[in-house]
Amino acid sequence: MQKITIAKGDGIGPEIMDATLSILKAANARLEYEEIEIGEKVYLSGNTSGISKEAWDSIRRNKIFLKSPITTPQGGGYKSLNVTMRKALGLYANVRPCRNFHPFIKTRHPEMDTVIIRENEEDLYAGIEHQQTDEVVQCLKLITRPGCERIVRYAFEYARQYGRKKVSCFTKDNIMKQTDGLFHRVFKEIAAEYLDIETDHWIIDIGSARLADTPEIFDVIVMPNLYGDVVSDIAAQISGSVGLAGSSNIGSQCAMFEAIHGSAPPIAGKNIANPTGLLKGAIMMLTHIGQVDIAEKINNAWLKTIEDGIHTEDIYQPGVTSEIVGTREFGEAVIKNLGQKPTFLEEESFGKAVKFEVPEYRRPASRKKELNGVDVFVDWKGQDPDKLASVLEKLNGDVNLTMITNRGVKVWPEGFSETFCTDHWRCRYERNGHPVSNKHIAELLNKAFEEKVDIIKTENLYSFDGERGYSLGQGQ
Ligand code: NAD
Repeated sequence: MQKITIAKGDGIGPEIMDATLSILKAANARLEYEEIEIGEKVYLSGNTSGISKEAWDSIRRNKIFLKSPITTPQGGGYKSLNVTMRKALGLYANVRPCRNFHPFIKTRHPEMDTVIIRENEEDLYAGIEHQQTDEVVQCLKLITRPGCERIVRYAFEYARQYGRKKVSCFTKDNIMKQTDGLFHRVFKEIAAEYLDIETDHWIIDIGSARLADTPEIFDVIVMPNLYGDVVSDIAAQISGSVGLAGSSNIGSQCAMFEAIHGSAPPIAGKNIANPTGLLKGAIMMLTHIGQVDIAEKINNAWLKTIEDGIHTEDIYQPGVTSEIVGTREFGEAVIKNLGQKPTFLEEESFGKAVKFEVPEYRRPASRKKELNGVDVFVDWKGQDPDKLASVLEKLNGDVNLTMITNRGVKVWPEGFSETFCTDHWRCRYERNGHPVSNKHIAELLNKAFEEKVDIIKTENLYSFDGERGYSLGQGQ
């Protein structure tokens, strides 16, 4: 018996959880349940995190969490509980299988069977945002080597455990050479350890276009957080419906399983919601905890129910649906089919797919880090970069102004008058190719304050083992 934590959530959450639990119980899943309250009621009781300490304790004690969708109340002050849980529990891998059920569920892609593995903690979702000038706000995109290694290894281990043949990587490293460049580089390094698995890399734009057009060429796809967020919804939708997909959020200690859709308030309490997304989440949970027999039994019963044309309203298709049923009745139909196998739809084998370990990150030896200069960001309301340069050149000394960019585009020296400039200027100071010390930077900043230059931030320019660790200006 394995004790798990469950939360019935908001909106359609309780209905789809009741249907899912009735199926788990009828299938003799070796589970005990501990229920917690999270979401809207908790938020509205004045707890802006949406979760109590007791609820955290239950999840951390049981380590496995089956969660219905929750409603995040509108208006400021309420933190997204999903994002909080993923990060607080270290749930670094988000896994979303997107498979077709043609011809029983409508799709333009009858051969699609793709798993999206999304990094779940980093990237722009670090949520570090600042307004820097009247006109400019920024969001920090943080990509880390341990984060990349963990998610990429997870994708390869997943492929091995689930008998998948290929892992693709999507990034935009032609533009973001440092951040996405690191993700891609780590992908290549780790791919070399899994020679039994085919690999390729796609720039996210063309990769997504091909995924939407010919998804059958993709097997497992791994990508950073934001791309994964967008692409996994598209993938689920084109495989049939977002309403049918489950997902897992895996950490080294805890794991959370859910439907990918939300709490659907307009149809709450009407007994019409499709419980499949959460049920698929529960099936992923069963494979994760090693109850593969139960996972296959439930999945086969679900496939048979779909083949029989017993459908909830959202997947109704004339000529295919034999009976439109409610949430509860759909659950009962799946229970009736427990022990049966599908006739037309391919069975999914969860094989040896049990919880697998991704090796702990080992920090490599530090590389030689050298300071080459500094980017000083200035709030300046003028329009002519030559004028700004004439002020900034007054600060020259040990370090000298070498470039000014506006929104990343070089505007000095030799900028174009056509380039639109906002009030946020990146001004690069270097020392003619020689190393720079923090003292040089402190002196530069002191002079800037004396000249009343409005500095909003600085970024040090480092190289690592002689390799430049910062971007050039566009046009440089
Ligand atoms: P949603 O996914 O809840 O619903 C969009 C529409 O899709 C619904 O109105 C409904 O017509 C349909 N739908 C969704 N699930 C269905 C199902 N199981 N069966 C049949 N039809 C279904 O998206 P939304 O309306 O943008 O969000 C509603 C709330 O859910 C918001 O408060 C949002 O913050 C929250 N949300 C929670 C989660 C989560 O807890 N994991 C995820 C997404 C959204």
